[in-house]
Amino acid sequence: MTATILFASKSERWDTYEGPLRRALDALGLTYRLGTDFPSEEVDYIVYAPNSGIDDFTPFTRLKAVLNLWAGVEAVVGNPTLKVPLARMVDFGLTQGMTEWVVGHAMRHHLGMDAHIFGQDGIWRTETPPLARDRRIGLLGLGALGIAAGTALARLGFPVTGWSRSEKSVEGITCRHGDEGLRDTLAQADILILLLPDTPATQNILNADAMARMPKGAVVINPGRGPLIDDDALIAALDSGHLGHATLDVFRTEPLPPEHPFWAHPRITVTPHIASETRPDTAAQVIAENVRRGEAGAPLLHLVDRDLGY
Ligand code: NAP
Repeated sequence: MTATILFASKSERWDTYEGPLRRALDALGLTYRLGTDFPSEEVDYIVYAPNSGIDDFTPFTRLKAVLNLWAGVEAVVGNPTLKVPLARMVDFGLTQGMTEWVVGHAMRHHLGMDAHIFGQDGIWRTETPPLARDRRIGLLGLGALGIAAGTALARLGFPVTGWSRSEKSVEGITCRHGDEGLRDTLAQADILILLLPDTPATQNILNADAMARMPKGAVVINPGRGPLIDDDALIAALDSGHLGHATLDVFRTEPLPPEHPFWAHPRITVTPHIASETRPDTAAQVIAENVRRGEAGAPLLHLVDRDLGY
């Protein structure tokens, strides 16, 4: 049987994805049609970006699955017209990129790099930072990205405590779950990294109460999703000096409007949702494998739980 695969993303993405997708599908010996324009009723799979413009899946009458190009699914998971399985993206390149971004920004704060990068003022500053083993890291989210970033930080010597919804065991990471686990994770987070999905259960998880539980001077690094943080509470905690800095890659509104107070805040670093992105060569292999599984009637990889929202 020939699988018809619609690529639905921003048009410029097609140029970067077509070659890798064809190579990956060919490597698995699949028979397929791949393109950006098919009659809806002929489509078996949609390789999907939530900003593609497709938000009504009703016309896709023989659709077997939607294969999301992004790790985050908050923009599609609640779509009532989507009646088929939804797979999210877990991609080597995406994971590796996130690990590098998280480690880089954690090291910036751990080593106090700003004092020397921005402090070229003739003052001979000789304070040395503590070793990694004396800087505690808290990690909210122990999924594909959280485990990879947390493991890399643990290998550098940081004591890492990670928190997830379900109970977990990850080598090198002290794993916690539940309300008490969250409170303990926050209480020992000199650097707190947010790698949770945006769901009704995680929105505003870093609110005023949660920030108050963190050590004085702690740093927040958020490459997860904007709604995880109560923005006003964050600014208040930074202004009061309770928190030392926040490095934010994701926001409630993106692009972050130029007039937003985050841009000018001396204790906030804004990066424009560039922590990581899906890489065509490796992501194409994940998509091709899911098409193979779909055609074989096997369970898809990285299925989203529609009730949990991630
Ligand atoms: P994932 O594999 O689905 O992991 C999500 C983690 O969050 C899991 O450990 C999960 O717990 C935990 N979690 C979910 N709801 C929770 C709750 N209510 N309480 C406690 N823990 C909860 O996701 P991922 O691939 O690691 O990606 C994480 C997020 O990163 C994505 O959803 C996306 O928003 C963001 N992201 C950002 C960028 C960027 O460039 N900034 C790029 C890619 C992804 P369980 O383990 O118990 O299920």
